[in-house]
Amino acid sequence: MSRIACPCGGLMRDTTVPNTEKAQFIKDVDLDASRVAASRRCAAYLEAVVAGAPAEWMRAQGFTEDYLNLNLSQAQIIDDLIAGAVRRFSGDILECTTCGRLAVEAGCNRFVFYRPDAGEPVGPFVEPMGGHEGGD
Ligand SMILES: [Zn+2]
Repeated sequence: MSRIACPCGGLMRDTTVPNTEKAQFIKDVDLDASRVAASRRCAAYLEAVVAGAPAEWMRAQGFTEDYLNLNLSQAQIIDDLIAGAVRRFSGDILECTTCGRLAVEAGCNRFVFYRPDAGEPVGPFVEPMGGHEGGD
């Protein structure tokens, strides 16, 4: 999904990173499962590291040679493992910058629109929620 047509005629774009017009969410019913999936994936990777075969494990998980050749730090790899595991459980929310509607992902590339009372954008995703740490 790179863009969604809003009922007002505007376009919601998902082409920049970070995108101040987008958020990701995890349904409360999936929260524990997403944490468990991420923890298990990281634990499996750490077991492969201890066994001296992290590259083999990563290839078996579908990571490409290009990825392996990036020579990422352990923190970056673990971050990617967590992001990949959690992504399976997350949905997107995009704000229309024309009318303020929110498009909430309700299924695989299926969106439901919600319009704010004011009928204009309020930028709910512009400011960080907090808890940010610097890079690694
Ligand atoms: Zn709109």
